Amino acid sequence: MVSLRRARGRVPAAVAPDALDAARRARELRALADGEAVDVLVVGGGIVGTWAALDAATRGLSVALVERGDVAQGTSRWSSKLAHGGLRYLAHGDVGVAWESARERAILMDVSAPHLIRPLPFVIPLGGQVGRAAGAKLEVGLRLGDALRAAAGTSRRRLPPARRVSAEEAQRLVPGLSDRQLRGALLHWDAQIEDDARLVLAVARTAAAHGARILTYAEASALRADGATVRDRHGGGAAGEAFDLRARHVINATGVWAGELSGGAVRLRPSKGSHLLLRAAALGEPRAAVNAPLPDDGSRFVFAVPRPDGLVMVGITDEPFDGPLPDVPAVDAEEEAFLLRSIGRVLERAPTADDVVGRFAGLRPLLGGDDGGANGAATADLSRRHAVVEHDGVLTVVGGKLTTARRMAQDALDHLAPQRACVTDRIRLAGTDRPGGDLAAQLRFGVTHELALTVEDLLDRRTRLGLVPERRAAELGAAREALAASAS
Ligand SMILES: Cc1cc2nc3c(=O)[nH]c(=O)nc-3n(C[C@H](O)[C@H](O)[C@H](O)COP(=O)(O)OP(=O)(O)OC[C@H]3O[C@@H](n4cnc5c(N)ncnc54)[C@H](O)[C@@H]3O)c2cc1C
Repeated sequence: MVSLRRARGRVPAAVAPDALDAARRARELRALADGEAVDVLVVGGGIVGTWAALDAATRGLSVALVERGDVAQGTSRWSSKLAHGGLRYLAHGDVGVAWESARERAILMDVSAPHLIRPLPFVIPLGGQVGRAAGAKLEVGLRLGDALRAAAGTSRRRLPPARRVSAEEAQRLVPGLSDRQLRGALLHWDAQIEDDARLVLAVARTAAAHGARILTYAEASALRADGATVRDRHGGGAAGEAFDLRARHVINATGVWAGELSGGAVRLRPSKGSHLLLRAAALGEPRAAVNAPLPDDGSRFVFAVPRPDGLVMVGITDEPFDGPLPDVPAVDAEEEAFLLRSIGRVLERAPTADDVVGRFAGLRPLLGGDDGGANGAATADLSRRHAVVEHDGVLTVVGGKLTTARRMAQDALDHLAPQRACVTDRIRLAGTDRPGGDLAAQLRFGVTHELALTVEDLLDRRTRLGLVPERRAAELGAAREALAASAS
């Protein structure tokens, strides 16, 4: 158990192994079911909940995190996998949010997760879609982004400054780019996360190393000031039982589901983003990402991003979404056609449905309402487009994005434990010990160190084979074997 000594600026040493497996989960769940209380209960195992668990544990608090599915079961695995510097926010004049994004990107790249983040060049073609005035406006935005990058401490060697490039240079970076009306391009740099679910897992394992109990397949209901009802949804341990988990503080970090669990205290207006995965050859094996501006909105882009797995992700975010929340959102045929058509406008050969090998969509937990969704309750900071809202003794932390989740967690814990200093901006995350290359070794490691309890955990979150149904089907047997080997 973590000592309750005040963590004053010094990064506390890890106190427990960061290896997470079924036996540790069952043991820790049993102790809580038997009545052990914790300082902080975090509900939700996405990027926000895991950072909250890590923040609380490194402030010297005892922590349990309960997640109704697997780590990164929700939105955090359906992102565009970019650690944004906040260009979109600059376009809307939201300098505060852009600054926070640039700072958090710097922390992620240089301190928390250099092993999971790499610089990525982006090309904005200047052609038919973008007239000279619009091009100049985009360039001003990119220069402002550079100023924020420098002020945040990210060196120009790490993320080079934006510049204009010739049509030929743009085509060298993106060979599939059409030269129809191409005057040149703007080249700028941002950061790409190797995989979002892997980032969440790295935060979870680091929290575990600092003593946090990471309890997957444990669903919370009836959140209250002194705990919640928790039900084990997995076989083994206290399977199926519901018990009262006692805690001195409760944090609701359930993303798009936070409104439901807050009993209406927080109003959310989810927005949808959709992505297609294409064979890189369909876009001429690009070495840079492409931002294709939408004809009717100079500040919105359809993007094509080359991925570490050899595929290219074509996507758009922030489409309004209404209706009941699905567990796994889907890309519909209309969205697929729109994405292919939009990226096709800047390419020599427009990709077709035959080039698509996978699809995924996600729902962003945006704050809604005139008061930012806080329903008049006290908020730590709505200007950052995330909120920390206290209602009936429960703290809900919601909004923001993958890039700024560390800061969201800090705001939540500053609210609960202001006398203890936050140190998460100085912590290197776990994950460098994962075996490279060999899939069988990675699957085994998933079971022994990364809390994979099911075939889905292995295929859809420890590896991302599940993003391409064909690859998933081919490795189903290997995933079953890895689980069976650990059981024997
Ligand atoms: C399409 C798309 C693209 C995006 N791209 C980017 C990007 O490139 N960069 C970026 O910085 N941000 C991006 N974002 C934003 C970012 O992904 C989200 O802001 C972030 O992942 C939300 O994290 P979260 O922890 O709040 O929610 P989630 O990841 O959804 O986590 C909430 C968790 O709570 C669990 N839960 C729900 N109810 C219960 C319960 N009763 N008991 C226990 N657990 C429960 C869920 O299973 C879930 O795992 C994108 C978002 C979308 C939708």
